[in-house]
Amino acid sequence: MRKTLSMILVAAVASGLALTSCVDESSIPDRVIVVGSGLAGHAAAYSALESGATVLWIEKNAELGGSTAIATGTFSAAGTELQKAKGISDSVELFKEDLNRIGKGKADQELLGLYATKAAEVWEWFVAHGLQPSPQSPLIDPMHSPYSIARTYTPAKNSAAEYCKVLLAEMARYEDRLTVMKSTAATELIAYRGRVVGVKTSGEGGTKDQYGKAVILATGGFGSNFDMIAKRLPKYAQLRSVTMPHASGDGIWMAEKVGAQLVHMDYLVGYFGAIAEEGTKRTGFGSLTSGFAERWKGDVWLSLEGKRFVDEDGFDEDPRETALDAIPEQTAVIVFDQAAIDRNGGKLPIRNFQQWLEKGYGVKKADSMEDLAKAFGLPVDAVMKTVAQVNENAASGRDPQFGKADNYPLSTPPYYGVKSYGTIFMTQGGIKTNARLEAVSTSGAVIPGLYAAGEVQGTAQWGGLGYAGGSGNTPPLVFGFEAGRNAAALTVEK
Ligand SMILES: Cc1cc2nc3c(=O)[nH]c(=O)nc-3n(C[C@H](O)[C@H](O)[C@H](O)COP(=O)(O)OP(=O)(O)OC[C@H]3O[C@@H](n4cnc5c(N)ncnc54)[C@H](O)[C@@H]3O)c2cc1C
Repeated sequence: MRKTLSMILVAAVASGLALTSCVDESSIPDRVIVVGSGLAGHAAAYSALESGATVLWIEKNAELGGSTAIATGTFSAAGTELQKAKGISDSVELFKEDLNRIGKGKADQELLGLYATKAAEVWEWFVAHGLQPSPQSPLIDPMHSPYSIARTYTPAKNSAAEYCKVLLAEMARYEDRLTVMKSTAATELIAYRGRVVGVKTSGEGGTKDQYGKAVILATGGFGSNFDMIAKRLPKYAQLRSVTMPHASGDGIWMAEKVGAQLVHMDYLVGYFGAIAEEGTKRTGFGSLTSGFAERWKGDVWLSLEGKRFVDEDGFDEDPRETALDAIPEQTAVIVFDQAAIDRNGGKLPIRNFQQWLEKGYGVKKADSMEDLAKAFGLPVDAVMKTVAQVNENAASGRDPQFGKADNYPLSTPPYYGVKSYGTIFMTQGGIKTNARLEAVSTSGAVIPGLYAAGEVQGTAQWGGLGYAGGSGNTPPLVFGFEAGRNAAALTVEK
């Protein structure tokens, strides 16, 4: 029997993974396997096809699209035609500076550089291929830490799915080289002689081994894997999540098993803030209180220790996210009085306020601040000390602790409280890659044949410890394109 046809034990990659199965070397086809079909998977599949590769595209959901089913469509890029048309002068250097300021200099500089350098090219590609930008583009995204310049764009229909539509339409040209397997989950990477050569899959047709010269993991984050969060990031066990159920981190754990290095796995951003039904960690956009916090004047945020922890009204979202990270359970109780409701024109602070109040879980009402504190199980003495300080700030017009500009007393009953949890939109830890999007092992070596693109890399890897507008959508697209191109160009000696 020829050596290439002999059944060869699958060897471990850099980590010394245990021998697991046999591979017929000659049966490894010269194709690229893309796992996952969100923004990164779409971009990777398209660019691998466009570069001449044959592609097997595997998706565990019944439909393609991943998080684009719920994500809005912001995209950030410097030096675009839209900026020039509006007389906005921008540069990649300024973009990098802003990303580093917002990310506190903690991003991988090669990946951050690739993101900032390639984003405009990718945006222009979408526009040239039919994406309709909104007339407001470019703008300064008000939801996140602001860039120094308007460089965030949205499609006219503000959904991330708009990018997938363009990519799918373009992929139609390469139908003969594309196989799509939906409702099929990749369960394990197959490693052979120090390389990754395929994935094991489980789907309607049972379990199978699928081989290729390269595997691109575009499987997204782990924001819905609450067991894994509790186990690996216990500090964040109380965070709620708006991510889709598929966000279970499969690609991250599969890569870890073949020796991939994981980065930023101790960091998870809880965006302010969700009200969740009792006993569940899942929540939806409609239950977020952050819009209320931006528009309201006079609400006070208390930690579970009964203390204020931030300037509630600050324009920049980042100090709030950083402060939330530091308080117990990343959970706050937002309190206000009847005067605050009156001051805000009688407008109620959150959607479905009355229903929440009736449920008596997320929203509570009391005739005194003492009773409100008790209702939420907050330490009454600490709360009353905070209220006294809030009232003193209102009288002096100054907030010596956090510098809040508009200070109002908490003194007009009834009093209300909203229990607000930090909320996961995307996860920050993931598979370490180099700027070719090749996965890197715990020893720092490239794992041949394995690529990762998108949230599976962890957003902190390209964005650092902070979140800049468009930095959830843009890198999966930019890096997906790069990974597809690089994987297609890979040559393997057999
Ligand atoms: C509600 C919401 C709003 C957002 N809004 C914005 C925004 O306005 N701007 C912004 O920049 N970012 C935003 N984000 C973040 C951004 O959308 C995501 O970071 C981005 O979509 C991630 O893309 P992805 O391709 O890496 O992963 P995903 O879109 O999550 O795709 C992963 C895919 O892999 C599949 N998969 C997973 N495991 C397996 C497996 N074992 N086998 C086969 N397939 C598998 C999944 O089913 C899924 O289809 C938002 C996120 C949410 C949740």
